[in-house]
Amino acid sequence: MIFTRRHFLSTTTVAAAALFAPGPLFAQDPQQPEMVVKARAGAADAKITTQKLRGNICVLMGSGGNIAVLPGPQGKLLVDSGISSSQTHIKEALAAISADPIQQLVNTHWHYDHTDGNLWMHSAGATIVANEKTRQRLNSPQTIELFHATFPAEPAGALPTVVFMDEHTLHTNGETLHLQHYDPAHTDTDISVHFTDADVLHTGDTWFNGVYPFIDYSTGGHIDGMIRATKRTMATGTTSTIVIPGHGPVGNKQQVAESLEMISTIRDKVAGLKKEGKTIDEVIAAKPTAAFDDKFGKGFTTPQMFTRFVYQGV
Ligand SMILES: [Zn+2]
Repeated sequence: MIFTRRHFLSTTTVAAAALFAPGPLFAQDPQQPEMVVKARAGAADAKITTQKLRGNICVLMGSGGNIAVLPGPQGKLLVDSGISSSQTHIKEALAAISADPIQQLVNTHWHYDHTDGNLWMHSAGATIVANEKTRQRLNSPQTIELFHATFPAEPAGALPTVVFMDEHTLHTNGETLHLQHYDPAHTDTDISVHFTDADVLHTGDTWFNGVYPFIDYSTGGHIDGMIRATKRTMATGTTSTIVIPGHGPVGNKQQVAESLEMISTIRDKVAGLKKEGKTIDEVIAAKPTAAFDDKFGKGFTTPQMFTRFVYQGV
């Protein structure tokens, strides 16, 4: 999910401005929950930045989750599709990388801030690849309880057509990609995408760099799965693997290790307090995240929210 409070506020402001504009900024879908309408309003003007990583791989940031791009003669491969209203700006950013058309799109999980651009990217020529559960969830209405938001089923053109359960390998543009399903972690649809030659790993939202993670229990997420996923991210690639989180700046194994220590420590503290019979309010009052709040507590997921995510699962 979109995770900075600043971004949340700025999209709200833009949405409010849109209400008073003489005409709609773009077509509004009355079926979509308010958070998608606001995200689309905010993303229409969002600046897309391009960061070069290694071995031709770039990441586009600024519209929903981080988008990895591998250009080349077999056409571009993208990981995640951002918010649909960013189409013009994403197309400009992609054209600045190379003239290759979009040929393949991989979705790291079903959430709208990683899949809202699926329809236009498919229309532009992309075959969509994902875990089978991502297709199942996009193909039927879904609810994220925390946000009281229900998302309608996606149209056929936005659905992944190449799906797998456990793992899948792709060869394109001289690169080998290893796709692996995580245990239920952030959702039950998460996969990692490892560009094995360049040693660049996209973790989807199983890793938020520098902030407390969001865990979507209502579509299969779980704190213990997040810990297992983070351990697997540590075990994938090498010590110099470049790690693209779902949200936040591109990072490295050292930063993943710091996140792992943070979530494991807080998990054990909260589990211990819950075992003593403490209620959620008593656990929040005990501030089990205090030692980590300066470093991780400034994102969309507040220390109190993260404590609730952990308490729910232990
Ligand atoms: Zn997500």
